[in-house]
Amino acid sequence: MTELAIGVDIGGTKMHAAAVDRTGRIVLERIAPTLAQEGGEAVLLRALELTGAVLAEAERLSGARLAGIGIGSAGQIDFATGKVAYAGETMPGWTGIPLGAAVKERFGLPVWTDNDVNVFAVGEKALGAAREFDHFVCLMLGTGVGGAIMEGGRLVRGAFGGAGELGHLSVNFDGPRCYCGNYGCLELYASGTGIARLAREQAAAETAAAGTDKADGAAGVPEGGSEGPDSHAVIRGWLAGEPWAVRIMDKVVLALGTGISSLVHTFNPQAVIIGGGVAATGEPLMAAIRERVKAQTYPSMGGHLRILPAGLGAGAGVIGAAAQVWVYG
Ligand SMILES: [Zn+2]
Repeated sequence: MTELAIGVDIGGTKMHAAAVDRTGRIVLERIAPTLAQEGGEAVLLRALELTGAVLAEAERLSGARLAGIGIGSAGQIDFATGKVAYAGETMPGWTGIPLGAAVKERFGLPVWTDNDVNVFAVGEKALGAAREFDHFVCLMLGTGVGGAIMEGGRLVRGAFGGAGELGHLSVNFDGPRCYCGNYGCLELYASGTGIARLAREQAAAETAAAGTDKADGAAGVPEGGSEGPDSHAVIRGWLAGEPWAVRIMDKVVLALGTGISSLVHTFNPQAVIIGGGVAATGEPLMAAIRERVKAQTYPSMGGHLRILPAGLGAGAGVIGAAAQVWVYG
């Protein structure tokens, strides 16, 4: 009999539910917009509806047994109760939502609920790039920067479910103030929005250096619309060897190298697994990060470290969420 787990991945922009088998194969899936601005209760109802739709469809598959539901959500999650302990401005009213309990009550199946990057780490450990590691750190480089830490095969959660907020590891105490309160957080340099911010800063510096007119020519940051070039344009330019993009990405790589080096000195992990849209750049970015980390860590720790791209790809969110069912069930 086929055994399936339902994985639900709730992000600030979209929610994704899927029926996943033990090998991590997505059997069926549905995606819906989160519409976070409608508030926490509305998001919860939409998540229940989406989960119910996938469950009903999975039940119709002849011979499938549903083993449970695993949820990964943006924000700080209390793993023991499945409650959202804290969610930022991108998901207003999500704080305090009894997510796990509501899903359990509605569907009567075992439910596990955790932070989205924690479940990403669970998925990478069970089925992805971290299969052979018990001590590793995950970094998700997307719109923001998320993180998770696995130590001795167990997630490090901290006292209130907040451990692993690696985007708010400072890499520059002289840097700009972050919305978390700290200065020069990794997220301000290594996220999609952070890279775009560096491009705007560099364009402004070029304009100032050139007097009243923006510096023109091949060496300058291209206009790229009113917001300037986005992170994709910067990365494309970097891969093509364009000097303006190389200058920006040198900072991004230095920030990542500095942050990861601090993590290496703190946790002495076997591996750092890097996922998210920015990491989709693949090997050139990995190679640049490896070189920096090697130069900035004790050889006894950095020398043995593996820095690897995530193994699960675009479905990593739901596959990791569902993997909780196999790991904890
Ligand atoms: Zn911060």
